[in-house]
Amino acid sequence: MNPREELGDLIAQAREHLRYYSELGLTHIGEKSTPAVSEQRVEDLIAKQATSTAHGAFEPKRQEPPASTIIPPPQPVTKPTITMPTKKENSTDPSLFGEPSLFGENASPAAENQYANETLEDIRRDLGDCHRCKLWSTRTNIVFGEGNPKAELMFVGEGPGADEDATGRPFVGRAGQLLTKMIEAIGLKREDVYIANVVKSRPPGNRAPESDEVKACIPFLFRQIAAIHPKLIVALGNPAMQALLDTKIGITKMRGHFQGYPRIPGIKVLPTFHPAYLLRSPDKKREAWEDLKKVRAFLRGETES
Ligand code: URA
Repeated sequence: MNPREELGDLIAQAREHLRYYSELGLTHIGEKSTPAVSEQRVEDLIAKQATSTAHGAFEPKRQEPPASTIIPPPQPVTKPTITMPTKKENSTDPSLFGEPSLFGENASPAAENQYANETLEDIRRDLGDCHRCKLWSTRTNIVFGEGNPKAELMFVGEGPGADEDATGRPFVGRAGQLLTKMIEAIGLKREDVYIANVVKSRPPGNRAPESDEVKACIPFLFRQIAAIHPKLIVALGNPAMQALLDTKIGITKMRGHFQGYPRIPGIKVLPTFHPAYLLRSPDKKREAWEDLKKVRAFLRGETES
């Protein structure tokens, strides 16, 4: 690379860093009194800032203390090595890790074939005023999902909460606002991605969806995925990850590890923590940020996953 190209590259990198900082609400980086900030220290800063705000790692701070007072000293980072089981992408075994499938016949990857080439509108029409499980009796609105029908990136949550039930839109409450910040923190807009849930009707009292509810609803998510055909699905939390990968392994072991989506070769799944969990456990935001950086790198073609 000649010096001119090198300089251009450096400027592009600096711009990008600045964009992330401002996305995260940092406004004082680069002041004369601020020591040079390495990438690792910025990540420490983001994690520390995350734990210090009620709103979370990916939301702008309203009132900033000077950066020099909040940058923590460099800390040695020890990465745990977790070896995850993997599965060949073209296998026809619906269960990722050879367990009995959670979905019975719905788990056959051939199930979507009968709906080949359908659109999201077709799927929504087929869902109708759904009475396939007991959740219909307590819901206000079906929350089908929204976003770019050709998205490369999809986010899947567990099921609508009160705000989503009231509006008919996924992830619009507090957790949703954090999800929006997470999306923006990797340089995307909410409209660029597609957001859906495992169940489309709110489980009362925000309880987790029960297995009969998941079984009744999951074919619609599978069909949405087949219609959108994203490159990557980010599974938010245990229920979403377990439904997408048809496994009972927990999110803590799986997060941050790319998996093949067992139903369609070529689509990847990256499990990470649910934003509602991040609101309750802000110390986990650092790990979620690590996962998001993997998403960004994957979409840029910078990693093989
Ligand atoms: N939590 C979810 O899992 N989905 C939503 O749509 C909102 C909150």
